[in-house]
Amino acid sequence: MSNHSGSYLINEILYLMQKYNVFDSIGKEKTLSFLNEVKWIGYKHDCNNGEILEGISDQLKVCYICWEYGNEMNDGICETCVAKLWPPEEKNAD
Ligand SMILES: [Zn+2]
Repeated sequence: MSNHSGSYLINEILYLMQKYNVFDSIGKEKTLSFLNEVKWIGYKHDCNNGEILEGISDQLKVCYICWEYGNEMNDGICETCVAKLWPPEEKNAD
């Protein structure tokens, strides 16, 4: 059982921070460092990583699976994780 309300509370705060340009102000490196600390807080409170970054991951281009920057985001998942989850050979199999 996951702490969904805790996850979405963090998610709403991340949206507010995005609205107030906090992530642009601190830059990509500090944003990633900050998010890793957020992830740890979420872990301690039994939150769900996907819910914490829901929607905001596409805006920040931070993958909700690996929590790293991606170039091509697919519903919050970076191209590297997409390739791991859905290898190209499986897509082309017929
Ligand atoms: Zn990823």
